[in-house]
Amino acid sequence: YGEISLKDIDQVAKSSFPLCMRHLFEKLREDHHLKHAGRMQLGLFLKGVGLNVDDSLAFWREEFSKKVGLEKFEKEYAYNIRHNYGKEGKKTDYTPYSCQKIILSTPGVGDHHGCPYRHFGEENLRAALSRMGVNSRAMEDVMGKVRNRDYQLACTLTFEALHAAPCDAGINHPNQYFSDSQRLLK
Ligand code: SF4
Repeated sequence: YGEISLKDIDQVAKSSFPLCMRHLFEKLREDHHLKHAGRMQLGLFLKGVGLNVDDSLAFWREEFSKKVGLEKFEKEYAYNIRHNYGKEGKKTDYTPYSCQKIILSTPGVGDHHGCPYRHFGEENLRAALSRMGVNSRAMEDVMGKVRNRDYQLACTLTFEALHAAPCDAGINHPNQYFSDSQRLLK
């Protein structure tokens, strides 16, 4: 993995995050909060794209302190972020989640983790895809894959539509989506 810095994060989120991560990212910016499973899914992805632990702490602190205050952030949330980077506890270096793991997760009410191709209703999914810039023709192909429960293929078609380039290997991992996208954009 390369490195991305905090100042570029909004721009790369727009250009290169898969829908699952874009959704979490936008919800965090909007609500200044994410529940635990969402923090894990997005946090480990961000680690995978090369955000270092200090930038990561700054990123979550900026949002969470607007909601819960700085003190509570440092007390209750900062530990977990350092923990994800192997800086606390057993010092395990946690790996970002694969598509398969995310697709099999079970988000409840108020949760924003999971795979939108699987977990969004049709209307929400169409709206989200259109905000991403998927045109109406590609949209129907994507929705066809969703109806067949081929969620990763739906994500692959989205990738291809947004990058105007083939993704022959298919999407298996959000961090693969990201690195394939960055490669094409550079
Ligand atoms: Fe994310 Fe994978 Fe779902 Fe795409 S298929 S939105 S990368 S979990």
